Amino acid sequence: MLKDFFIHASFVITFLFIGGSLFKSNPNVDTTVQKLKLGALAGILGSVLMAFSIQITPVIMMDLRHIAILLSAFYGGFVSAILAATIININRLVFFDISTETFLVTMLIMFSIGAFASLVEKRLNGSGFLKWTVMGLISLLTISIGLLYLMGFTNQVYQLLVNYWVITTIAGMLVYFLTGYIVQSNQLFMQLKTQSATDFLTGLNNVRQFDSSLNESIESAQELNERLSLLMIDIDHFKKVNDTYGHQAGDEVLRQLGGLLISCSRPSDIVSRNGGEEFSLLLKNCSYSRALEIAERLRGIVENHRFSLPNGKEINITISLGASTYLETTQCLEEFIKQADDTLYKSKRTGRNKVSAL
Ligand code: GH3
Ligand code: MG
Ligand code: MG
Repeated sequence: MLKDFFIHASFVITFLFIGGSLFKSNPNVDTTVQKLKLGALAGILGSVLMAFSIQITPVIMMDLRHIAILLSAFYGGFVSAILAATIININRLVFFDISTETFLVTMLIMFSIGAFASLVEKRLNGSGFLKWTVMGLISLLTISIGLLYLMGFTNQVYQLLVNYWVITTIAGMLVYFLTGYIVQSNQLFMQLKTQSATDFLTGLNNVRQFDSSLNESIESAQELNERLSLLMIDIDHFKKVNDTYGHQAGDEVLRQLGGLLISCSRPSDIVSRNGGEEFSLLLKNCSYSRALEIAERLRGIVENHRFSLPNGKEINITISLGASTYLETTQCLEEFIKQADDTLYKSKRTGRNKVSAL
């Protein structure tokens, strides 16, 4: 029996790692599609475990399939748990020779475990470990009642249950800590990935992310034969803001300008802080004349916006802008950036607080 459960534990661990990679980019399983994906994976795990079950009598088999349901309830809630239980039940019916009574009892056990476990996960206040322990206890009790009903109250069944409780409790704890480790690593991975692409002060894309977004946008513009516009933005006389009100006030202005640029752009636009007091906007499917209009609108919005400083004072700032359009003003990537930079500096040279065309 111990050997069989060791094989089961190996299957469970393998699935945990497969699940870990499938959910790497969304470790929180918060959309319905993710919940269904988790339920399906857990259902397959439960079915695989069933295929390697320990045959206790010709019709009774024991395995760790309930842990697959617990996992889906713990991370995906009711939807995942019921889907996992359904897949396990269907496989039990299709692939195993089984009496109607045994099927009905095991089906009831699996659905009850799914329902109770997701209820505990949702309603019980307490740590994850407490929830997992209660979920484990409820499922072991449910399975024990089912087994006693099917096999009767004999010494052989008591012995079997004692072994089953010990082994599944150890396996359950192992799964809990291992899954926790995998989920935590995935969350950390996503956190670091986001941080490495984000400017810490404004929350906008940083220059590294700007570069990769630029390359992606250029490729997609070529594929779709669409124009891609770039606005380069620089705050005018920003050094004066720092010198007059302090660096912290300067930071606050940068943060608020970041928010303002986001609120004025479409979801498909890519807004970045390219360094210091320099920002950029990548405008997909946007002609040069439209880009100049957008630049002029932004210039006006910033000019009229009151930026609040930490000391309660409100100030105005202005920005200078330059623009270029890939597949319109140029066909070359280097020239695309250079034109936006050059026209920005043309705006600076010719008086600031303005948009300059090529
Ligand atoms: P211009 O109109 O020619 O652009 O003048 P400017 O003063 O804006 O440009 P300059 O390049 O002379 O100075 C940029 C200033 O931006 C100097 C620097 O202290 C400030 N700066 C750069 N990064 C940050 C930052 O993260 N926080 C704050 N508070 N200031 C910054
Ligand atoms: Mg400046
Ligand atoms: Mg600058």
